[in-house]
Amino acid sequence: MRYSMKGIFKSPDPFKEKYRQMILRKKEEILHALKMRLEERINIDAELRSSQESDLGDLGDLNLTNSLNISFVDRYTAILKELDNALERVEEEIYGFCDQCGKKIDDRRLEVAPFALYCVACQRKIEEKNRKRLRR
Ligand SMILES: [Zn+2]
Repeated sequence: MRYSMKGIFKSPDPFKEKYRQMILRKKEEILHALKMRLEERINIDAELRSSQESDLGDLGDLNLTNSLNISFVDRYTAILKELDNALERVEEEIYGFCDQCGKKIDDRRLEVAPFALYCVACQRKIEEKNRKRLRR
């Protein structure tokens, strides 16, 4: 992996390690949640399928199932991708600083959302902007 190659000659940094653990924990959490959702989905599909007559054809059925799954799988994979980006920022030593104003992001915020790119103030401004755009 890219980051382990980069960090190999550096002296251990307790903050880096702390952030790395935090992000990895979140990744596991998300992966677990995704697995649960998928299993749930598979069970529901199995029940649906067994209660239906199969003259609809298996392929059509499968396609419908896939399109239903996509929205939440996409959401989870997007978060996982953001967490990978966060790991890279840890290695580049730019992790934990707001991408907008450059201030340190509160550690409590990072613990809840380790993929956060902005401090609370900037995040609020961005969300406000998005809401206005959606309203139009
Ligand atoms: Zn900020």
